[in-house]
Amino acid sequence: MKYSNIDFDNYFKTYPDENGYFGRFGGSYVPSDLQAAIDEITEAYLTISKSEKFISELRRIRRDFQGRPTPISHLARLSDSIGRVQLYAKREDLNHTGAHKLNHCMGEALLAKYMGKKKVIAETGAGQHGVALATAAAYFGLECDIYMGAVDVKKQAPNVARMKVLGARVIEVTDGLATLKEAVDAAFMAYLADYKNCIYCIGSVVGPHPFPMMVRDFQSVVGIEAREQFLDATGELPDAIVACVGGGSNAMGLFSGFLNDPVEIYGVEPLGRGKKLGDHAASLTFGSEGVMHGFNSIMLKGDGGAPAPVYSVASGLDYPSTGPEHSFLKEIGRVKYGVADDKEAIDAFFKLSRLEGIIPALESSHAVAYAMKLAREMKHGSILINLSGRGDKDMDYVIEKYGVPEV
Ligand SMILES: *Cc1c(COP(=O)(O)O)cnc(C)c1O
Repeated sequence: MKYSNIDFDNYFKTYPDENGYFGRFGGSYVPSDLQAAIDEITEAYLTISKSEKFISELRRIRRDFQGRPTPISHLARLSDSIGRVQLYAKREDLNHTGAHKLNHCMGEALLAKYMGKKKVIAETGAGQHGVALATAAAYFGLECDIYMGAVDVKKQAPNVARMKVLGARVIEVTDGLATLKEAVDAAFMAYLADYKNCIYCIGSVVGPHPFPMMVRDFQSVVGIEAREQFLDATGELPDAIVACVGGGSNAMGLFSGFLNDPVEIYGVEPLGRGKKLGDHAASLTFGSEGVMHGFNSIMLKGDGGAPAPVYSVASGLDYPSTGPEHSFLKEIGRVKYGVADDKEAIDAFFKLSRLEGIIPALESSHAVAYAMKLAREMKHGSILINLSGRGDKDMDYVIEKYGVPEV
């Protein structure tokens, strides 16, 4: 398929290019000593991950440990409540640990093992990436150091406990505002100091090359499975697919399977409390081009061009930039990006719970909310939603803040 002069038959061979660019987005903007360490990961990834041994081991792990393939569910009652459009969900909430993040963490940790590393290092904000990586590290018998802002450590006590139970070390970062940005800096410093023994494992399709490519490739299992399952179940492709976008990994996972198909693709950013800077995290919708965390993409800028403060009810979506491939796919017009706000997400959270018996993560609820809006506009056809995770982690917060609506 040709689209805006891009040949999608060869898309994955062409993007990113050897320097990690998707058009002008991506690349690697890091100090040269860190670049040398990262180059080792790129080299290793390009050779090891293509070997038959690596591929068959990862396949076996996905089946026997993660419980893949995850199913596709027809959301019949939710569809009926809206009109004639049929909604479906790819059930990443049923992936082990309850979200899609384990897909790339198992890949990254398996790569670490093949590279002979003893330890994996990462930062975490809300703690979801930390828990997924700690799980992968336990499985492979690797040490795991998770850097987390002291403010987040307090807010995310259950995830901190999970990481510790799984055997990870949680290192509290007290510099600056003591949140995600400081945790990223501290994790990169620790990696640089010990890169012979460890690898850095990023949590989404962000960061310097090769991470956006590597995480996309490991997540593409979601889209490959979903395409085949949808065809099996309905005999057709969906008319549209929808996923929420924080850094953009669950979305790239699903989108990868359908880029070369006549399928409308939608990414959904969090509009939070509204359009004012600081009240949302809709980077592609309101942002401009710039470099942060080692890559060039569309980002939300605050004072002096620094990453702006962001907010969403879904802590997994509040990131002031987005993966470079999303900026590229938006620019060429292959993927459309829209928004859902807190209120719409909460409404979708209860709708899916009560009509389908599935409690979605607040992140995934943004995709559900957007798909519901789209279903009203489309009148007929089908929509496949990536249900990136389950909502157990959000339960206490939702009940405390919003209460439970009357039945
Ligand atoms: C972390 C997270 C997200 C957001 O991350 P992406 O990289 O944008 O996918 C979405 N859903 C869930 C359940 C998450 O835990």
